[in-house]
Amino acid sequence: MSEQQRGEAPPARVAGTAGGFTILRDPTRNKGTAFTEAERDALGLRGLLPPRVCTQAEQEARVLENLRRLPDSLEKWIALRALHDRNEALFYRVVMNNPDEIQPIIYTPTVGLACQQYGHIFQRPRGLFVTARDRGRVARVLANWPYREVGIIVVTDGERILGLGDLGANGMGIPVGKLSLYTACAGVHPRQCLPVVLDVGTNNEALRRDPLYLGLQQERLCGAAYDELVDEFVTEATRQFPGVVVQFEDFANHNAFRLLAKYRDRIATFNDDIQGTAAVALAGVLSALRITGGRLADQRILFLGAGEAATGIADLLTAAMVAEGVAEDAARAKSWLVDSHGLVVKGRADLAEHKRRYAHEHAPVADFLSAVKALAPTAIIGVAAVGGTFTREVLATMAALNERPIVFALSNPTSKSECTAAEAYAATGGRALFACGSPFDPVTLGGRTFVPRQGNNSYIFPGVGLGAIASGARRITDEMFLAAARALASRVTEEDLAQGSLYPALVRIRDVSAHIAAAVAAVALSRGLATKPLPDDLVAHMRSLMYEPAYATYA
Ligand code: NAD
Repeated sequence: MSEQQRGEAPPARVAGTAGGFTILRDPTRNKGTAFTEAERDALGLRGLLPPRVCTQAEQEARVLENLRRLPDSLEKWIALRALHDRNEALFYRVVMNNPDEIQPIIYTPTVGLACQQYGHIFQRPRGLFVTARDRGRVARVLANWPYREVGIIVVTDGERILGLGDLGANGMGIPVGKLSLYTACAGVHPRQCLPVVLDVGTNNEALRRDPLYLGLQQERLCGAAYDELVDEFVTEATRQFPGVVVQFEDFANHNAFRLLAKYRDRIATFNDDIQGTAAVALAGVLSALRITGGRLADQRILFLGAGEAATGIADLLTAAMVAEGVAEDAARAKSWLVDSHGLVVKGRADLAEHKRRYAHEHAPVADFLSAVKALAPTAIIGVAAVGGTFTREVLATMAALNERPIVFALSNPTSKSECTAAEAYAATGGRALFACGSPFDPVTLGGRTFVPRQGNNSYIFPGVGLGAIASGARRITDEMFLAAARALASRVTEEDLAQGSLYPALVRIRDVSAHIAAAVAAVALSRGLATKPLPDDLVAHMRSLMYEPAYATYA
């Protein structure tokens, strides 16, 4: 007997059905096949879904089965973005339960490819596009963002995306990817996350000519006009979202250092390429020293590259040595840089401002191998985005100079890596203390298996963001990054070290982030920068704040 035959109200569901249909298309509420029988009735979903009710675990298995069938990582990136747009909780469950498999897809290295192809693979917008045409009306653009509880903004102007150069508005993949990691790795609620591209044009001519490019087809805004747009954005963002943390991401050198210097004492802001990288690299060095037994102050570190990553890491290494009682000049003298013109030394006339503090007295040296031989470093750190530059000879020289050479090949994506893990272990007879910027599989050599882990910023920035949001930090300081690096290193176990891993396994990332967030909040408290009350047990507090990708109950 039908409802009507039973004399019940006729389908009073016209509105309800429309509501159910809408819910299925709202990724923040959609549970797909996991809607229960009761929910299907209450929300007007009956008939709109196949009859069998699935658990979230079954849905996850289905997603993974489909994902693993796809032919390449870019297809997987597209599929995961589509899932994110369909069912947010399921997306985060998949990311959180399978970090080693999924993180390299939603973030480096695949995100680089996705950015290069952004206009060609575009399906739905995500994030906010603030463009050069919006000068004078940025407030209105920001007001269009639907969530008002924004706690963190990741913003790029797309000029230096990973090691791939100027990708203009295509850079949106980076803030979207990073903020997914804030949620997955540290439980920052998705509604607190706002990805932004400042589309100021692009000087990438090929991109401008690409008929499917989606950004402004004009040359980059520069000078005062650029600064005014950035300023209008920062002013409006902090007005509309009081206390928001603004993370600058993948800006080119000439703006990155300037903008950090301009805003770091005004708002809660940091540059992940400079400061996040620094903390993750320092943590790796601290782990390596647990194996060698050496002191930080006894190291000589030679960088290939002299940009944001290199000077950021060198600055934090200096700060860490100073904190151990070394005089600042002596600490700074431990770090040496090699750029595309050779060793950075005093007297070179072509040095940009950010390199000068590492221009030490030395005769000119033309290339990296010669610099290794001349300086006999204990550690080499590759951050020049030039693939294959840690040659067999460089690695063998490091092995001849050191019992346990520290070798960090941090450039991204994989094609830019200075060497592979296999090359590093092979050329040093398995003695290298190795970390990488791109993921490499375990390497078996002489009966031993080494598990290289990525010195990925995703160990640091999510926890820093959570700590800053939880404490309402008014500023993000270098001391917080030092504390974050130590907290990360403290989570590396003896078992990790025994297999050559200088970082913890990604499956433990939430625990790591809770400790980093607590360390950051503790600095905020001790320096009078916290604006929110905090309990004594900071780690437990951070855990209690973390988003879980569980479904809500609607009936
Ligand atoms: P950047 O543009 O600021 O710096 C690159 C530097 O490399 C510049 O100083 C440039 O002069 C130098 N360089 C270029 N060609 C060179 C050559 N042939 N020899 C020596 N030096 C050369 O970029 P960045 O932000 O410092 O990033 C550099 C690389 O590090 C990128 O690939 C980036 O993806 C990677 N990175 C990795 C991590 C990580 O794994 N945690 C973090 C940050 C950056």
